[in-house]
Amino acid sequence: MTDRLRLEAEILSLRTKHPFRIARHEHHEVRTVLVRLRDGDDLEGWGEAAPQVYYGETPETVLAALNLYATALPEDPLDLEEAERRLATVLAGNPSARAALSAALHDLAGKRLGAPVHRLWGLDPMKAPISTFTIGIDTADRIRMKVREAEEYPVLKVKLGAANDLEILQAIRDETDKELRVDANGGWTRKQAIRMLPVLEDHGVTVLEQPLPPKDLDGLAEVSRRSPIPVIVDESCLVAADIPPLVGRVDGINIKLAKCGSLREALRMIEIAHAHHLMVMVGCMVETSVGITAAAQITPLVDIADLDGAALLAHDPFVGATLEGGQLRLPRGPGLGVSKR
Ligand code: MG
Repeated sequence: MTDRLRLEAEILSLRTKHPFRIARHEHHEVRTVLVRLRDGDDLEGWGEAAPQVYYGETPETVLAALNLYATALPEDPLDLEEAERRLATVLAGNPSARAALSAALHDLAGKRLGAPVHRLWGLDPMKAPISTFTIGIDTADRIRMKVREAEEYPVLKVKLGAANDLEILQAIRDETDKELRVDANGGWTRKQAIRMLPVLEDHGVTVLEQPLPPKDLDGLAEVSRRSPIPVIVDESCLVAADIPPLVGRVDGINIKLAKCGSLREALRMIEIAHAHHLMVMVGCMVETSVGITAAAQITPLVDIADLDGAALLAHDPFVGATLEGGQLRLPRGPGLGVSKR
C-alpha cells in the first residue's frame, strides 16, 4: 500500500424487492463490495464492485484481488491512467474489483478538484438519457403486478429466455403500451431467436439484447440481419477489444463497469463503438447507488441506459444518481456525488 492512499473494503449484503430472475439464474440477495480510498487530506473516494460468478468473480475473489491491487495504487489519485496500467500489470481479470477502484479514484480526483466526474470530462448532465426499468422473468400474474409497480418508468426492459416468453410479453401488453426492450441473456437458440423476431415486432419491442450465447457471433449476425429491430450485445462484449469482431454483425453494445473494469475503458468503448456507428447502451448489475452513480457519469455520451440496479433493491444505503420518472439525474456534488442515505 502506498503512504498516501489507504484502501478499505467491505461486503454489502443487499436484498432485492422481488426475487430477480434472468435466463441463467435467480436471486433474492446480492452481495457487492464497497471500496473506500482515503488520501492524506482525509478525502474519501468510493467505488463498488458488483462481482458476477458468470464472469469468474465473487465478493471473496474481489477482496483478495483488492489486497493485491492495494500494493499498486498510485500515490496521486489524479494519475488515473497510470493507476490503470499498474492494476492491469499486477493482476489481470477481476473486472469488478478494478472497476470499484477506478470509481473510487475518480471520486477522489473529483473531490480534490471540486468538480463532478462528468464535468471533468466536459459532459453535459442534461444529456443523460431515460433509463429503462427491468422486469425479471416471472409468472404472468406477477409480471402484471411488477408492470403496475413500475408505473413511473416510461420504458421497460423485460427479461426473456424462459419457457413462458410469449405469456410474459402478453402479460406486459395486457397492462401497458409503453416502450419495451427485451433482453434474452443468451437464452435462445438461433431457431428460437428467429422465431421470436416477428413476435417481438408484434409486441412493439424496440431493442433486442443478447438473443444468443455470447460466442455465437455468426448466429448473432444472422439474427441481426433478419431482425426488424436493432440487436445489441451484452455478454458478447466485455471490453474495447471485443468490439471490432462485432462490427457489421450487430447493431450495438451494452457496456457495464463490472465487465470492462474501469470508467476509462468504458469511455474508450463508447468512442470505438460510435466510430463504427454502433448503438451504445450502458447497463449495470443489481448494486447500490455507488456503482450506479459511477456508471451514470458516462451516460451523457450513450444512446440508451439501463441503470435501474439500485431501484431494484429493497433498501439502498446510498443516495446518488436518481431516476425520476425514469429520467437519469446526475448528482451535482464533487467526484461521484454519492452520500450515505
Ligand atoms: Mg443484458
